[in-house]
Amino acid sequence: MAELERKRGGAPVAADWTYAPAPESRDVVQLRDRYGLFVGGEWLEPRETYTTISPADESALAEVGQATPEEVDAAVRAARKAFDDGWSALPGAERAKYLFRIARVLQERSREFAVLESLNGGKPIKESRDVDLPLAAAHFFYYAGWADKLEYAFPNRRPKPVGVAGQIIPWNFPLLMLAWKIAPALACGNTVVLKPAETTPLTALLFCDVLRQVELPPGVVNIVTGDGRTGAALVEHEDVDKIAFTGSTEVGKAIQRQLAGTRKKLTLELGGKAANVIFDDAALDQAVEGIVNGIYFNQGHVCCAGSRLLVQESIYEPLIQKLKRRLQTLRVGDPLDKNTDVGAINSRMQLDKITELVRSGEEEGAEIYQPPCRLPEKGYWFVPTVFTNVAQSYRIAQEEIFGPVLSVLTFRTPDEAVEKANNTMYGLSAGVWTEKGSRILSMAERLRAGVVWANTFNRFDPTSPFGGYRESGFGREGGRHGLEPYLVFE
Ligand code: ADP
Repeated sequence: MAELERKRGGAPVAADWTYAPAPESRDVVQLRDRYGLFVGGEWLEPRETYTTISPADESALAEVGQATPEEVDAAVRAARKAFDDGWSALPGAERAKYLFRIARVLQERSREFAVLESLNGGKPIKESRDVDLPLAAAHFFYYAGWADKLEYAFPNRRPKPVGVAGQIIPWNFPLLMLAWKIAPALACGNTVVLKPAETTPLTALLFCDVLRQVELPPGVVNIVTGDGRTGAALVEHEDVDKIAFTGSTEVGKAIQRQLAGTRKKLTLELGGKAANVIFDDAALDQAVEGIVNGIYFNQGHVCCAGSRLLVQESIYEPLIQKLKRRLQTLRVGDPLDKNTDVGAINSRMQLDKITELVRSGEEEGAEIYQPPCRLPEKGYWFVPTVFTNVAQSYRIAQEEIFGPVLSVLTFRTPDEAVEKANNTMYGLSAGVWTEKGSRILSMAERLRAGVVWANTFNRFDPTSPFGGYRESGFGREGGRHGLEPYLVFE
């Protein structure tokens, strides 16, 4: 209990407002020492393994497989067999039942999954619990609803499944990205080989347990763990009909080059450098919350993060003051503490990348602000950071940092805001804050981004298509649009 003081005879107020620790229990998760590869509904003993760790304290969690090209081949063959043996011919309403069951089991086991997600990836438990898990289940529910309605979704086009889908996902939303990929693929009658990111394999491996629980036919979903070499083997495999990739622009480009001229279908969801544009008529306190959510949510490990803040000059001073004050209240630390706002950086490599880019910002002449903050001694951590005085040419205004680092620029007119917002090689998302509906509509039309949020940021919904322009990739995930990459039309 906080100590209470009486101020000038008035109501009692707390002298110390610090939170007591509120750790979520780890006991709900039963980790195995060693995980195999999930192929044809069975655990295949991997030839090579590596150790996956917790980024919050660098402790070892489990040994997982580093799948070789031969093991990837076994997974693709299992997927092909399942496709030919009946999954693709199953009536949509039957496929939907499996998707509904998966969604229900994810809901039932959501605490276990949320704890494991935070343990292996470093994100705050309140985010895995309140965002990742509910959204992952919602994607399975949503696409279950489409499975028997494909003929209506695409009238007169006779939709058919593509075949075997190879899916490669990143480490920032491990289970949610799995749901984004697997749910539409199965709804359309495809089978899948999915590769999670090397730093966050554990929720995908726990998901295999769910697949067994719902008695999904063997081989419909296969999970192979490993690093980029495993991903490359999947991309190269000649019996894969479609590749869906979410990750860095660099790897995305390499995959696109590799697949050029082949018959394989491809969708890419890559990086971003989103502008979050604040007009002088915006509700400032709400905008500050939106800015914080836009860039510090999930440690800024978000491809659509609002990493470039564009502020109208007339409100620059009060807004920045409010923002800095708000930053002082962010709690950085133990991902499993329910009061934590900003968790651990996902890996040493990512921490090095963030540190290097932040150094470049200081060297190029931007002004750095970091609130006072005590970081844990072990693990990978970065203090939430704001750069002001940023020129458009600086690396911190051009390159994706993928960390809790915000670059602030200013503008005077809507035209200038649009020009600066679009001055990027990316085009994934953007935000607009204003009280005028007409301004929202005109900005949304002029901003070159796949998603434009108005008076909010980082809102996701399975019914809403998501994806980018330019170097942010192509193809859409979510909504009816998200079915199309998994279908061919006669
Ligand atoms: P990040 O830089 O965010 O880690 P990556 O693009 O390196 O993003 O990783 C995203 C996913 O792509 C991960 O699952 C990773 O293992 C995989 N990957 C990395 N390199 C390749 C590659 N050459 N071919 C296919 N997949 C790859």
